[in-house]
Amino acid sequence: MAWELVNGTIITPHDVLERGSVQIDKTHIQHVSKSSRKSADTMQIDVNGMLVFPGLINCHDHLLGTYVPRVGDRRPYLNWLEWDNDLKSAPVYAERQQIDSSDLYLLGGYRHLLCGITRVQDHIPHFVREAFAKNLPIRIISDFAMAHSVTSFALKWGDGIEAEHAKAVKNNIPFITHCSEGYDEETLRSVETLAAKGALSKQTVLIHGIAFSDKDMDLLAEHQCNVVWCPVSNLYMFEQTARVKELMDRGINVTLGTDSPMSGSFSIFEEFRTAREFYRFAYGAELDDKVLIDMMTTNAARAMCLSDAGSIADGKAADLLLIDGAATNPWAALTHADYSDIMLVITEGQPKYGDIAFAPVFDAMKIPYQTIMVKGARKIVAGDILGLQNRIRRAVKFKKELDFLPIEAA
Ligand SMILES: [Zn+2]
Repeated sequence: MAWELVNGTIITPHDVLERGSVQIDKTHIQHVSKSSRKSADTMQIDVNGMLVFPGLINCHDHLLGTYVPRVGDRRPYLNWLEWDNDLKSAPVYAERQQIDSSDLYLLGGYRHLLCGITRVQDHIPHFVREAFAKNLPIRIISDFAMAHSVTSFALKWGDGIEAEHAKAVKNNIPFITHCSEGYDEETLRSVETLAAKGALSKQTVLIHGIAFSDKDMDLLAEHQCNVVWCPVSNLYMFEQTARVKELMDRGINVTLGTDSPMSGSFSIFEEFRTAREFYRFAYGAELDDKVLIDMMTTNAARAMCLSDAGSIADGKAADLLLIDGAATNPWAALTHADYSDIMLVITEGQPKYGDIAFAPVFDAMKIPYQTIMVKGARKIVAGDILGLQNRIRRAVKFKKELDFLPIEAA
């Protein structure tokens, strides 16, 4: 059905439209206009000046790892493998293993939905993801070529770096791999190895990059590669993160990823906060709020080769995020937001989560929902999040609290 958000502050890539409107037809944005006019044919929702952003795109996570607490007794690590060994021997890993994989995926979906993320890159072989990533409240990016990482001790994901990169070029999809995540000799040579295999191009998306040298970054710039910055995960595991200013100064496309909460952030709000603090500490300057939001919208869409995502414009996917905040600097409002500020999240034209005030919209569109309290605010969410919480608690046989899912029954 066609419907319309009216009287919103619409954040487009080049403009902020006050009292603007977004018309939605099924799964897509039909029309964005500078003004709102009364219409008798479509359901109009007055959003009363709320800030309307494109849904956020999280460029790195492992949804099967949606669990807490973080693991890291022997920090800082030399590379991911040392951490992974600690993970596999940790009691929390055994605890997590009692939960159905489909429920871990659902947890991952809701973790991001509550923060306004509408798409996520789940880094795992396709056959694993395809088995579990069904009926989630957010969208999982499915078209990409991949490797686990670049060293000889990488997990054997995909058909090998050369073949996967060739697939990416042929099909105009991203080639995604962990890269330079650590300090052993092989990991330090990751970019050189990729260059030797002919796997640096605009399709290439490198996750982490904490050990990039100046020469590495020059190569990435020359080949128009993309980088996913995961500050919380990197600073937790390695006490280091990518030199993001040096990347951006070279014109490299930088996006943001949360990684899984077993090493990374609980929410994108924490990721924004850490990104800002790191930048201030490392460079003695403020990281521009719009730059940070671009990382999760336009930059992410470019890296993931998603032509329909990352901006609000006619014909784009109706993946939208509405928050409360001042129109004077909408980007700052979003990078400083918290759970209670998230007012409505729409994926593929369907409201999935929002403030209780939007209940009539869910009712009109016949979307079943539950009422929950999220950090003191009354919200509604599509699907059965409370049933999911109960299944987790039954599986682990105690009242597990999940920091990334701060919900209670209302
Ligand atoms: Zn990862």
